[in-house]
Amino acid sequence: MASALIALGGNVGDVRATFRAAIAEICGRAQAALVARSADYETPPWGDEDQASFVNAAIEIETGLDPQALLAVLQGIERKFGRERDKARRWGPRTLDLDLIAYDDVALQSPELTLPHPRAFERAFVLVPLAEIAPERLIGGRKVSTALASLSTQEIKRLPDTG
Ligand code: ADP
Ligand code: MG
Repeated sequence: MASALIALGGNVGDVRATFRAAIAEICGRAQAALVARSADYETPPWGDEDQASFVNAAIEIETGLDPQALLAVLQGIERKFGRERDKARRWGPRTLDLDLIAYDDVALQSPELTLPHPRAFERAFVLVPLAEIAPERLIGGRKVSTALASLSTQEIKRLPDTG
């Protein structure tokens, strides 16, 4: 079994409900146990700022799938929840974005999959939820909590639990 960190994001529809359903699907389809789940956070739009704010969260799972198979599962779940890739707006609105941030200490670079995720450390909306569940984790040799300390987190709001 391997430990995988997954970042969730979305800004279309009832994103928090989508997260709950998507996490259940991930565990079912990825032969996975949920180790940890962060709170949901409201975060400002990033990359393409002319759109609604996002909800972001992070989970850690223990999975029996290899990284490529896990990515395929995540992409299948994005499609199930209605994500349509809009080539014109790379960072535009989406119902559900699932990014594989890290898979054990695996480092790899292929056209479909780069590990650890190359942009995770630029994004407070990834690191804030991740630091809640795995502050001490080393990703590409950098500690999550240390990486977060260099980013601005002012505009990120933790949402109350929905129970
Ligand atoms: P972003 O997540 O940067 O907003 P997308 O979700 O549209 O953008 O992802 C674009 C591509 O990134 C996907 O086609 C996928 O194959 C690739 N990719 C490479 N590495 C990863 C990774 N670690 N996790 C998720 N997708 C990845
Ligand atoms: Mg993605």
